[in-house]
Amino acid sequence: MMRLPPFARLAPRTLAEAVEMLADQGPGAAVVAGGTDLYPNMKRRQVEHHALVDLRAVEGMRGIREEPGGGISIGATTRLSHLAGSSAVPRALAHAASVIASPQIRNMGTVGGNLCLDTRCSWYNEPEDWRTAVGFCLKAAGDVCRVAPAKSHCWAVASSDLPPVAIALGASVRAVGPGGERTFPVADLYRDDGIDHLALLPGEIVAELLVPPVDGLRVTYRKIRRRGSIDFPELGVAASVRLAPEGICEAATIVLGSVASAPVRCREAEDLLAGRPLTPEVIEEAAAAAAHPAKPQDNTDLSHVYRKWVIPIHVSRALQSLS
Ligand SMILES: Cc1cc2nc3c(=O)[nH]c(=O)nc-3n(C[C@H](O)[C@H](O)[C@H](O)COP(=O)(O)OP(=O)(O)OC[C@H]3O[C@@H](n4cnc5c(N)ncnc54)[C@H](O)[C@@H]3O)c2cc1C
Ligand code: SF4
Repeated sequence: MMRLPPFARLAPRTLAEAVEMLADQGPGAAVVAGGTDLYPNMKRRQVEHHALVDLRAVEGMRGIREEPGGGISIGATTRLSHLAGSSAVPRALAHAASVIASPQIRNMGTVGGNLCLDTRCSWYNEPEDWRTAVGFCLKAAGDVCRVAPAKSHCWAVASSDLPPVAIALGASVRAVGPGGERTFPVADLYRDDGIDHLALLPGEIVAELLVPPVDGLRVTYRKIRRRGSIDFPELGVAASVRLAPEGICEAATIVLGSVASAPVRCREAEDLLAGRPLTPEVIEEAAAAAAHPAKPQDNTDLSHVYRKWVIPIHVSRALQSLS
């Protein structure tokens, strides 16, 4: 049995207290919400933390509410099961939450934990004895990337389900830290670096996800995985389009998950759709272009060749469902 290493657990009641505690603990401390990813990672000794600031009892951080000016605020410690069952949020977002992991994990896992999920790699998400035998890698205690040894870069994969659809919805996050608070697009939360994958400032905590009014935007999310439950996505496709009354696409956003260390925007495909009707030919053209920016590596369950090959198929299906 893998056991957690010893650590101090701090239980703030307010967000200000959480920020202060995290700062006081210094480097090596982290926040924990549902713990569904962080605790297994600590058990496998992928990460070490001498202290964890537990966000679960922080007041005002959980729940879904309508914003006075329109749009929805989703508190960072809102459970995935709550989001999945909510009729107040866009359907694509609720659907993305409903296909994460399993019911038990959705009852513990949170929106903030999903947005800030560590990147994954089949050479990294293994117990310590396995990694000791095979050799450590750049992301944890080693000096070489086992996937691409010639490069000193980590290609671990951003595999969480909510970020692509949050970006397609034009959502933002509000983060609070020692220097105050700021609100920025979800896309800006990520860096394409498997080790340093979040663009949060030191000590910052994600407080809420802010979803603007849907206002006629059509949005969908497709998840490709080996099994029908529990599995992380091998590919996530989020797409949104705004159609003029005569069926012309005024604007489109296509975001891929699980093909890089950050969600990938398919700008070429989006440009191909703008100003054109969503006919089968236009959709096929855009779907083919959507695969161009994706460079999956051989570090997840299915081969990189397969994961690249299926992108146009699923982007096409996503766009068809919106036409
Ligand atoms: C068997 C299994 C299957 C899974 N399948 C999927 C899947 O299909 N799709 C998927 O997306 N995920 C999956 N997960 C991962 C995980 O369960 C979910 O992503 C969940 O949403 C993580 O939320 P959490 O609250 O448990 O995060 P935690 O484990 O508490 O934290 C995760 C990370 O986020 C940080 N963090 C948490 N909250 C905040 C915050 N408010 N501000 C800043 N940083 C924060 C933590 O420090 C930690 O680094 C799976 C996990 C398991 C064990
Ligand atoms: S991509 Fe390379 S450095 Fe990153 S976790 Fe995998 S093996 Fe390690």
